[in-house]
Amino acid sequence: MRTVVIGAGLAGLTASIRLLEAGVDVTLVSKGPGGLALSQGSIDVLGYRPSRVTRPLEVLGALPGDHPYAVLGTATVRESVSWLGQRLGLVGSPATNLQLPTAAGAIRPTALAWASLAAGDVRDHTTFAVIGVQQVKDFPAALIAGNLDRTVFDGRELRAGFGLVDFEARDGEQDPSPVHFARALDDAATRRRFASAVAAAAGTADVVLVPGIVGLDDPGAWDDFVAALGRPAAEVAMQPPSIPGLRMFQRLLDDARALGLRHVQGSLATGFTHEDGRITGIEVASAGHSKHIRCDAVVHAPGGFESGGLGVDSHGVITERLFGLPLTVDSLAGLTEPEVGAPQPLFEVGVLVDADMRPLGLDGPVHTNLHVAGGILAGAQRAREKSGDGIAVASAWRAAESILGGAR
Ligand SMILES: Cc1cc2nc3c(=O)[nH]c(=O)nc-3n(C[C@H](O)[C@H](O)[C@H](O)COP(=O)(O)OP(=O)(O)OC[C@H]3O[C@@H](n4cnc5c(N)ncnc54)[C@H](O)[C@@H]3O)c2cc1C
Repeated sequence: MRTVVIGAGLAGLTASIRLLEAGVDVTLVSKGPGGLALSQGSIDVLGYRPSRVTRPLEVLGALPGDHPYAVLGTATVRESVSWLGQRLGLVGSPATNLQLPTAAGAIRPTALAWASLAAGDVRDHTTFAVIGVQQVKDFPAALIAGNLDRTVFDGRELRAGFGLVDFEARDGEQDPSPVHFARALDDAATRRRFASAVAAAAGTADVVLVPGIVGLDDPGAWDDFVAALGRPAAEVAMQPPSIPGLRMFQRLLDDARALGLRHVQGSLATGFTHEDGRITGIEVASAGHSKHIRCDAVVHAPGGFESGGLGVDSHGVITERLFGLPLTVDSLAGLTEPEVGAPQPLFEVGVLVDADMRPLGLDGPVHTNLHVAGGILAGAQRAREKSGDGIAVASAWRAAESILGGAR
């Protein structure tokens, strides 16, 4: 069974790993790294509907019938998200949202997260010491502490103060990025130096919050930092490129490669061949030439508008760019709301699928061995309701299960 997966976002990597685990031959074709580097190192299942959600799985059953979660069903979401969480060693579960401080001092609900982030859950702590680093932009410790200090969570008043440390990632470096800091903190001696600077500024709060920069490649960096600090601490994910998000991208890719993934990187899937209602191969534009990859099944996970899976031309015509799949709406007219913060109907445009994640046309599945997953699915306001990660994982898992079922 040869499968081509298109897209290296959360959906494409999840589908790849699930298939590889079962012994399927997987070729992953990806143009770019996808949305994981922009994400926060956590898996959102459902954060708002429209108010803050505490127990996501209990709400999924009440979503409209065209929402991806309604097609997937609660059991699939529970099983797939739990499976991925265990595989990555994340903390949390799809049943109950963690409530984590953000780099603006707000509280965000999310289902699972790296242990370093989950340690800051405001359900578990009342007093916070927010320690910024003079050289790290995008972690305004005073603002974060000020906002947390004004927060009443579940009837409990949070308390927060802040401190600032002067810490150079590398001697004399001007304008270092979070990636520079994270790489520097992969080094044990630098990490210990950072821990003593933070300890000196941290006061006596329940938990110390630091910018999410404590190591990029070293999986033991966080535990080592906390041991050196000698007290409870948590990372707070910053705006993109987010280090916890980059860690998740790299970990998923490393896991897939260790399982035998063939990865055609930096290459656009540009066309396909088909016969008797089945896809037989994918055309890939690769390093100046085109190549044809034969396959028995395809998982198409190219994201939505933001990744180029869907496109709008100068006449406002919306298309699915690779297979020309039928979409819920094919014209931009009336799909954008001028009011800031209003739901944008444009983001609900996408592909409708059957229970096996096969795109539907008027007469049933468009191709019997083509499955789609992630941001290309119709029916969700992902950024607004914080559901994009869970949809990506559950739909990718279901697409893979369907391919495995067919193979069996
Ligand atoms: C502004 C914004 C904020 C968001 N905030 C949240 C949030 O807070 N919480 C949440 O849960 N969700 C959020 N989402 C949604 C979430 O980002 C997406 O649902 C999720 O990233 C989808 O993952 P994916 O794997 O489907 O696609 P992506 O992560 O977009 O990956 C798509 C992959 O496909 C590749 N690709 C595309 N076309 C081709 C091709 N023809 N050939 C080869 N490769 C191709 C891309 O290069 C990339 O590797 C947000 C989305 C946006 C736009």
